[in-house]
Amino acid sequence: MIKIEGIAASAGVAIAPAFKLEHPDYTVHERQVSDTAAEIAKLNDALEKSKTELEAIKERTLQELGAKKAEIFESHLLILNDPELISPVEDKITNEGVNAEFALNETAAQFISMFENMKSAYLQERAADMRDVTKRVLTHLLGLTYVNPAEINTEVIVIAEDLTPSDTAQLNRKYVKGFTTNIGGRTSHSAIMARSLEIPAVVGTKEVLEQVNSGDLVIVDGLDGKVIINPTEELVQQYKNKQEKYLAQRDEWRKLRDLPTVSLDGVHVELAVNIGTPNDVAGVVDNGGEGVGLYRTEFLYMGRDKLPTEEIQFNAYKTVLEKMEGKPVVVRTLDIGGDKELPYLDLPKEMNPFLGFRAVRLCLERTDIFRTQLRALLRASVYGNLRIMFPMIATLDEFRQAKALLLEEKAKLTSEGVEVSEDIQLGIMVEIPSTAVMADQFAKEVDFFSIGTNDLIQYTMAADRMNERVSYLYQPYNPAILRLVKMVIDAAHKEGKWAGMCGEMAGDSTAIPLLLGLGLDEFSMSATSILPARSQIAKLSKAEMQELASKALAMQTAAQVVELVKSIDA
Ligand code: PEP
Ligand code: MG
Repeated sequence: MIKIEGIAASAGVAIAPAFKLEHPDYTVHERQVSDTAAEIAKLNDALEKSKTELEAIKERTLQELGAKKAEIFESHLLILNDPELISPVEDKITNEGVNAEFALNETAAQFISMFENMKSAYLQERAADMRDVTKRVLTHLLGLTYVNPAEINTEVIVIAEDLTPSDTAQLNRKYVKGFTTNIGGRTSHSAIMARSLEIPAVVGTKEVLEQVNSGDLVIVDGLDGKVIINPTEELVQQYKNKQEKYLAQRDEWRKLRDLPTVSLDGVHVELAVNIGTPNDVAGVVDNGGEGVGLYRTEFLYMGRDKLPTEEIQFNAYKTVLEKMEGKPVVVRTLDIGGDKELPYLDLPKEMNPFLGFRAVRLCLERTDIFRTQLRALLRASVYGNLRIMFPMIATLDEFRQAKALLLEEKAKLTSEGVEVSEDIQLGIMVEIPSTAVMADQFAKEVDFFSIGTNDLIQYTMAADRMNERVSYLYQPYNPAILRLVKMVIDAAHKEGKWAGMCGEMAGDSTAIPLLLGLGLDEFSMSATSILPARSQIAKLSKAEMQELASKALAMQTAAQVVELVKSIDA
């Protein structure tokens, strides 16, 4: 038995055999071949192997998940049997004398690009199918082991060095009972995705991948940040009890699903959800979220090999707005950079990516990318209650430039006869200390603030949010952070604007009493935190929390603040 400590990233307890997820290298190089017939034979062999695999997966999915879920594999088989794809690959090998993997990769890229530019959402999705199928065939051509997390179909705990957000998005929570990684912190994006998928997770273990063998029984305790490999019978029983207790508590919380969030002394606050993809809206509705407080649009740009078209984006935004049925949806414009890379933009490596060319900084230079997103958003605005938010704003000039681009695109659309909502609130993330300090000036020009504490804390404390060694400096309760939060909320209220928070701090049970006391209007968090937060706020008096917050602001250390909050009975 081995016990490993990590960072509790997503609540719950999971017990299942380990499944190690390691990514092979799909890089393809062009080679000249003399025997093109042999190359075509190699291609056909890889195609046949892929078909056999797909038939088996299709059959299994059909038995276990039904016809609807099996359809995807049927369409993959159709692609592999389609002469319109396969003949051009063979022609390329014969005419250009190139290797099979290169010919396949090039031909598939053309089809993917064609699908992505189609108007219909259905055809756009075929691009993802084409990408998956290509990877499968390449696996055989390159002699790799294929690992598609979406295909896991027995109950497992996924173990990985790290999970990309797109890996995480593909995990089927029916089978993936939990996951644990070597790297990452509570606010790394795989952790954030785990919470939206409601899968227990422990990240930042440093060593779990090396310590575990596939098939070992593993316990992931996402409540206390522990991973246990090959536990004793007794320990398994103990954790089963813990799991049951957690699930019973969750059932209690569920009773609050359709109720508003009101403090003991009758003050209403809004609890909204952070989402990463349109699929996450189901979790918002399930957990009684009163809106979407942060839609991280960068996931639309990730996991593909070129920028998403205006149509792809329009469809995603429209879907979210429609599914939210008029409740507010705060969409954040592209926040790429930091730990979220877009390899196809080919940006030079930076020494300090979190301090570098990211988010709105990139958008103001690459206005082509930004304008496309703004147009898609404006066109979608008529389908619900859209609010647009710019990330990583450091100066008023940046906000004004971004706003000017938005107004230009709006004017263009209107002159083209495209309908755009006249009622779109425009706000900014406050996640850079300069902006928190200047909040009084920003409040005159924005409709709202959303405080991004994940970054605000890392920039205020000068502690990289991805680096476990300095994670002790990630101190949401440090009076320095509380004072900045207060400045932002007070500045908004002075101008009659609202202030929300979409960093992880907003859903943290120790921070919630303080934030209520500081006057936060909207708390945006992972879906699974909504009901515990609603239950907690119902037991707190805002007037009393104001006093608590005043005391906290005058304290010297984060530890003192934690002690203070613990002293109240909630
Ligand atoms: C934040 O910085 O607090 C935030 C919500 O944005 P992200 O975690 O995506 O950087
Ligand atoms: Mg941020």
